[in-house]
Amino acid sequence: MLNDYKDFLLNMFFVASPLVFYPYILKTKNKPLLYGLFLYLVLAVSLICTMSFSVQIEGLSYDFRSVLLTVSFIYAGPFVSLLLYFTLIVCRFALGNPNNLLYAVSLLPSVILFLLLRKHYASVSAKRKTFSAALICTFIKFLTIFAYLGFLGDLVLWFKSPLDTLGTYLVQALTAAAFVCLMELANKYFVMQEEIVASEKMKIVSDIAASVAHEIRNPLTSVRGFIQLLGNGDLPLQRREYYRNICLDELDRAQNIISDYLTLAKPDPEVVERIDLKEEVEYVSQILLAYANYNNVVIQTQLCDEAYAEGDRHKLRQALINIGKNVIEAMPGGGQLLFALKKTNGGVVLTVSDTGVGMTPEQISRLGTPYYSTKEKGTGLGTMVSFGIIKKMHGKIEIKSELGVGTEYHIIFAA
Ligand code: ADP
Ligand code: MG
Repeated sequence: MLNDYKDFLLNMFFVASPLVFYPYILKTKNKPLLYGLFLYLVLAVSLICTMSFSVQIEGLSYDFRSVLLTVSFIYAGPFVSLLLYFTLIVCRFALGNPNNLLYAVSLLPSVILFLLLRKHYASVSAKRKTFSAALICTFIKFLTIFAYLGFLGDLVLWFKSPLDTLGTYLVQALTAAAFVCLMELANKYFVMQEEIVASEKMKIVSDIAASVAHEIRNPLTSVRGFIQLLGNGDLPLQRREYYRNICLDELDRAQNIISDYLTLAKPDPEVVERIDLKEEVEYVSQILLAYANYNNVVIQTQLCDEAYAEGDRHKLRQALINIGKNVIEAMPGGGQLLFALKKTNGGVVLTVSDTGVGMTPEQISRLGTPYYSTKEKGTGLGTMVSFGIIKKMHGKIEIKSELGVGTEYHIIFAA
């Protein structure tokens, strides 16, 4: 009996192993092919392990295959589920089990049934999904074993020790429920992280809006003045032409400010590409210009050509704007913001520096941790989001700061 428990624990360990990898697999969720492949791999390895170390009770062998099948029905889609079904049959054959065709036919109705019902339970709440997992797992066990033993005319085998057998079914149903519950937690955490990034972006968009409105007022005021001047009938044609050109230039400027702002506010398509860092830093400094002017900060740039990094350009913009915004906010009395892009032997370094209030070593160590903010209306999420984005691009951030002197962010991308 003790040996049975040991074997069951070993099986539970095999079944739980995909959960360790699931948070990483979730990161590929918007690449369905890769997501399906990874999910299949971890489920298949776990399946082969649990089938190879099955528990024997009264001539029947028990393992956790139905838990893994259940998980694939709920999360992995029809293609991966069918592939897992074939893997199961092949593995059963390879392990030397008899009647493989018969077994494949016995299991098939459950596979078809739950794949047909897939859409139904995919949209239900986490609680109901957990409950459904326990039901599906139990149902697969009953349907398959009765069909299989029925075909063989050996149904009595099941009734030899029904209590033990039901006990194993219960353990498996609970394992399936626990598995799905943990998958749901991982999913929720993943969605929450995405939401934080999106809500921080909206915060930037709304923070910058006031300064954009302010920035547009200047060209509008000058256009108004020149139109008034144009109303003067005695104006020589040359002057008239000159005023008209100024009006057009100013309107173009206002239009550019608005279209830059609108690109920032647009939802991101998320694509990984080769990013020209000079181009992006120029765009970001353009976006920050209104906010900087509003806060008496001068933006300077020293950018080298042909510096590249791999990643999502919109996300990088968001990271740099977050950092740039912090830098501007660190100079309440005005100052200088410098973006310097340099190529080094090992790659590219983008330095964002300010002449602001600076930070103590303790403050620097808290930077990037959630909800750390010294501002009245701060969210304390900006640097966390930025650091996350840069890390995802395989970049590194080093911070140097001195109280009352200023701060330097060094963002390093390896070549
Ligand atoms: P928030 O800007 O909403 O406060 P962040 O995560 O963007 O949140 O920044 C966290 C904190 O880090 C800020 O409140 C500020 O105290 C500090 N900080 C960030 N960048 C600088 C900087 N360049 N100079 C001084 N302090 C900074
Ligand atoms: Mg911030």
